[in-house]
Amino acid sequence: MDKIRIDDVDGEIDSATVKRPLTDAISAANVALNYYELAPGDSFAYGYHMHENQEEIFVVQDGRVTFETEEGDIDVGAGEVIRFAPGEYQQGTNTGEEPVVALVLGAPQEAGESKILRECVDCGERTPNTIERAPDGHAKITRCLACGTETGRFE
Ligand SMILES: [Zn+2]
Repeated sequence: MDKIRIDDVDGEIDSATVKRPLTDAISAANVALNYYELAPGDSFAYGYHMHENQEEIFVVQDGRVTFETEEGDIDVGAGEVIRFAPGEYQQGTNTGEEPVVALVLGAPQEAGESKILRECVDCGERTPNTIERAPDGHAKITRCLACGTETGRFE
């Protein structure tokens, strides 16, 4: 048995306003678990993405999230749950005016290859991106794999 308090788990640098990685804190063996808070405009993810081997389930507790999906935009509000199969592209963003609180589950923990697409101004289209840590260590940077342009910075 393991028990933790979410607020006791340190946050990490992410696209989200607050991300608390709970997987190791709760000693989860087979599922990845993260707690998120999104200010208006913030996203769970660095881009429109998919995980080759991992399904993802978003439990929205407060606020409203708009997910870009392969089937168009889907709104998910407080008390609703949305699930994406392995290989399905998606990105959830807080398009409302209230903060979003959500728990996100992924299984298995090993996501396999993940692909992230972001808009690149130099390429003029959405391209595959990589995520790297900034040299100062205090930010994460997304970079276009086609031309090398920095497409985003998250602190
Ligand atoms: Zn580019």
